Amino acid sequence: MNVPLLDLQAQFRSLREEILAAIQTVCDEQGFVLGPRVVAFEEAIAQYIGSRYAIGCASGSDALLLSLMAMGVKAGDEVITIPFTFFATVSAISRLGAKPVLVDIQPDTFNIDPALIERAITPRTKAIIPVHLFGQCADMVAINEIAKRKSIYVIEDACQAIGASQGNKRAGVLGDTGCFSFFPSKNLGGFGDGGLITTNDKALADSMAMLRVHGSQVRYLHEAVGINSRLDALQAAVLHVKLQYLDQWAEGRRRNAERYQRLFAQTKLADRVVLPPTMRDNFHVYNQFTVRAQKRDELRTFLKEKGVGTEVYYPLPMHLQNCFRDLGYQKGSFPVSEQAAEAVMSIPIYAELTDAQQSYVVEMIAEFYKHG
Ligand SMILES: *Cc1c(COP(=O)(O)O)cnc(C)c1O
Repeated sequence: MNVPLLDLQAQFRSLREEILAAIQTVCDEQGFVLGPRVVAFEEAIAQYIGSRYAIGCASGSDALLLSLMAMGVKAGDEVITIPFTFFATVSAISRLGAKPVLVDIQPDTFNIDPALIERAITPRTKAIIPVHLFGQCADMVAINEIAKRKSIYVIEDACQAIGASQGNKRAGVLGDTGCFSFFPSKNLGGFGDGGLITTNDKALADSMAMLRVHGSQVRYLHEAVGINSRLDALQAAVLHVKLQYLDQWAEGRRRNAERYQRLFAQTKLADRVVLPPTMRDNFHVYNQFTVRAQKRDELRTFLKEKGVGTEVYYPLPMHLQNCFRDLGYQKGSFPVSEQAAEAVMSIPIYAELTDAQQSYVVEMIAEFYKHG
């Protein structure tokens, strides 16, 4: 049997006609950058998230960068985030000349440990970027309490968490801005790169809308040095079709997560494979189903031979990356992140996964540990 980590073709097959029609409309109109298709999609996303504003841009990486720029983050400032994340969370800070100040994660959820934030704050701290890793929100109650008291901004890196919620609010309105990615492997994936920022703050929204078009409000007149980071109409058209199915796909992922919980419970592998928990008040959308596994690398090789796709998100924490050497961290600086990087493995969770495929994944994992 073959079980890829993600099967985008299965998703496309079910929407083929609808998506091709939307693309054809854009081709007929020949309006490709921003414009009415993008505005319509921004409005639909704002309504879905429950935010006052939504600003499309070129990628999730740029969503983070535009948030920081709109908040006035510059050289000499500090921004707090985690080392166990995708590169872009940390690089957005560096690109503005600001200093990423890293704090460790919680071992169970892989999200920022709120208890470590306060002692990382200095008079230069401008913002905190909690990452809703794998589709589950960080502890935003604790984070917002600290941020409010210290008068610093909160930027949600919600790139993996569109549709997730905490309490009665969706990711994207749990901080000052919410950053989303439409990279094809995200829960709402486009046919290329794309991103978006949500906010309820008019001043930030206006600023980000201006910064994404080279800091210009009136054509060829520039108020600030911005960047070129626009969402295009083809992506917006595809994403607008897919948005209608997002909740249904999240339900599929959640059903599969529950099924893994049941199947693993039957195998009695609890001491070998630790499944991801869900924090109270969280609605987890499982962009990834990430387990900690003993003998992880050997297990992955075995699964690959058996046709099961897996991936390690992420194998090297940011404080140990060559390009961040000058931050002054070393091995041992963030033990929970380092341990996670050595033990985690994501297994197939996409909505179209069949019962038989999922049983096969668990059977093969059990088979591996049978040999010792
Ligand atoms: C995907 C992702 C990003 C960046 O998004 P791109 O659209 O690829 O630029 C940032 N942060 C996290 C946590 C992500 O998963």
